[in-house]
Amino acid sequence: MIQTLNTLEGKPMPVALAAWNTQDLMKQLEDLLRSIVEEEKNDIPVKRVQRQLERELLYQEIQLQWPKMAPNERLAAWKKLIQLSEQAAKTPLPTCVGCGECCRKGSPTLHSEDLELLREGKIPWADIYTLRAGEPVRSPFQEGLTILTEERIKLREKPGSTECCFFDGETDQCTIYLHRPLQCRAQACWDPRSTTRLTDMPHLTRAELFQGVDLLLDLMEEHDQRCSFERLHKAFEKLHQTGGDSVEEVLRLLSYEDHFRTFLCDRLNIPDENRRLVFGRSFSELLPIFGLKLVTESDGSTCLVPDGRDGE
Ligand code: SF4
Ligand code: SF4
Repeated sequence: MIQTLNTLEGKPMPVALAAWNTQDLMKQLEDLLRSIVEEEKNDIPVKRVQRQLERELLYQEIQLQWPKMAPNERLAAWKKLIQLSEQAAKTPLPTCVGCGECCRKGSPTLHSEDLELLREGKIPWADIYTLRAGEPVRSPFQEGLTILTEERIKLREKPGSTECCFFDGETDQCTIYLHRPLQCRAQACWDPRSTTRLTDMPHLTRAELFQGVDLLLDLMEEHDQRCSFERLHKAFEKLHQTGGDSVEEVLRLLSYEDHFRTFLCDRLNIPDENRRLVFGRSFSELLPIFGLKLVTESDGSTCLVPDGRDGE
């Protein structure tokens, strides 16, 4: 383990840095960046600060020369790295350095302006889905759940992750960079005002996407009314108040919603990959958000249990 001593402007000052190899140096630098960013509290991702730092010639030189440096040279180099790190965290360059952190934290919602990208096939329709009004969602900018007041169309995330489906984790690159949506083009982690920049831009809706396909629009509206999130929230509230006695009501609603979407999608030949766009995410799919899951008993009956537990 590397010992540290607080002697340099309150930052950890290594006494064993003479023994560090380049890998140790990188690890220590990462820890240092994390502590500086935490202190700054400016919401700039650590990875972004690291990327900016890596662009500095002095940083590159230190990294290259580190194995050959004498202990006193290493001490001077480490002090320089602390200064450069603080500078990068405090004064981020007003540009995207391609760290990919915003693409890892979540996929963008689409605006009307993005419709052209869909029409031209730059973004495949199979890679978007609908979040319906009233749906509980997790925001990368807020703790806990938020209830959507209006519907949103969103790029798909990779299964089991918050990462955008177009993000290449190996190269940290966007695979549709030239055709990325408006929200991604407006993304500016270095500028706190960037989150409000698109406030006046209208969001894309299913009504725009399926304009002219009246039958589908009517069915989507019917689904929204019969299987509204308001109904689901109320059913869960009652479940809580009755100590679980009204579970049948919740199960009926889940089954009805599932039947509604499956029946219509089958009848209309809507491919599996487009169903979450047409009718949004199913109630059953969202159960983990409410801390629940469905399990099928040995007799074939369905049961609702807390997520993370098997049925009794
Ligand atoms: S905009 Fe996103 S990808 Fe670009 S530097 Fe900021 S967090 Fe990284
Ligand atoms: S579309 Fe590209 S830029 Fe936008 S979140 Fe996805 S990977 Fe990142």
